[in-house]
Amino acid sequence: MPIETTAAVLRAFGRPLAIEPVTLRDPGPGEVLVRMVAAGVCHSDVGQADGEWEFPLPAVLGHEGAALIEALGPGVAGLEAGQAVVLSLAPGCGACAHCVTGRPIRCQRALRAMTNGELVTGASPLRGAGGPIAAYSLLACFAGHAVVAAQSAVPLPPGVPAEIAALIGCAVLTGFGAAVETLHVAAGTRGAVIGLGGVGMSALQAALVCGAEVAGFDPQSERRSRAEALGAGTAIDPDSEGVEDLIKKAPEEGFDWSIVTVGNAPAMRMGIDLTRPGGKIAIVGLMPENVPVPVDFLDLVTYEKVILGSAYGSVSPEVLIPRIVSLYLSGALPLGELVSARFKLDQINEAFAASREARGIRAVLDISSAGPSNLAITSDLPAYHPGP
Ligand SMILES: [Zn+2]
Ligand SMILES: [Zn+2]
Repeated sequence: MPIETTAAVLRAFGRPLAIEPVTLRDPGPGEVLVRMVAAGVCHSDVGQADGEWEFPLPAVLGHEGAALIEALGPGVAGLEAGQAVVLSLAPGCGACAHCVTGRPIRCQRALRAMTNGELVTGASPLRGAGGPIAAYSLLACFAGHAVVAAQSAVPLPPGVPAEIAALIGCAVLTGFGAAVETLHVAAGTRGAVIGLGGVGMSALQAALVCGAEVAGFDPQSERRSRAEALGAGTAIDPDSEGVEDLIKKAPEEGFDWSIVTVGNAPAMRMGIDLTRPGGKIAIVGLMPENVPVPVDFLDLVTYEKVILGSAYGSVSPEVLIPRIVSLYLSGALPLGELVSARFKLDQINEAFAASREARGIRAVLDISSAGPSNLAITSDLPAYHPGP
């Protein structure tokens, strides 16, 4: 029986999302029906709503979620109803060279489905007033329920609050993976993290766990203060004069590595320019479509810098998520520090405004009101140290 649920629907780029009733088809072979409990608002959701990339409309956005399994489609093994899961936007097809070598984010079949607003397992499960609705990032989790590929449901051990589980699904995975998997950040190295939103703050935490010394860069003073409270050696306003100085000194004293989490050209160039000869730069931020970034290839060659793209943690979420969860449960990754505001699903446009204005670190939607849940949103905001 198809189920009725509520979703935040994007009907036109640049317009607010509308809370509408939608219908989800039954989970097909290799799919599961989940009840959403929490979803983070990622900058990609906001960029997509603003039309930075092509996407079929109408659409339900949301790709960073925690949920409970409600029903299994035919042939699904290893999951059961009631189980708490982190949603992954990299289910992969399971059969191509990328998938079998543990890099499902590179799967071209999944990428095509993502681009078309479908699931890797079949058509978009969503319908609303006027016909089909596209599913964003193979998930569409700004809704009471979702039908996703079973490979998108990564089991979550007990003890992780829903809002943190949600953030692990994109921000944490992406930032952590950039530091640990793409750059293999080593103890004793010095690195720069450009942009201190959810992804940047996660990269910073991961690099600190690796034993690196980290400088954070962000125009927002409250983000810089929080980065310093988390252990960043220094946090710098990218617009301050000191940055020019750091760039001048980079050939001798530049950073060993940098992670750029912001999708704009000045941030990308800053990450490259701050890095020492032979250093590595991981680019995580998504540029808008068809916007080139000028790179000084003379410097690239003469300084032997290495620029690497890093998507969604690079390695399989099934591998990375359990590692992140165990570091969180051990206290090594204080992921609660990433949550700076909570909203209900029907306040989603306010949450988008907070993200658009880079207020706080990460806004999380509490969708748990849909019914009883064993995956609770924690009741108090974590300690927060606003800047001057
Ligand atoms: Zn994201
Ligand atoms: Zn594949």
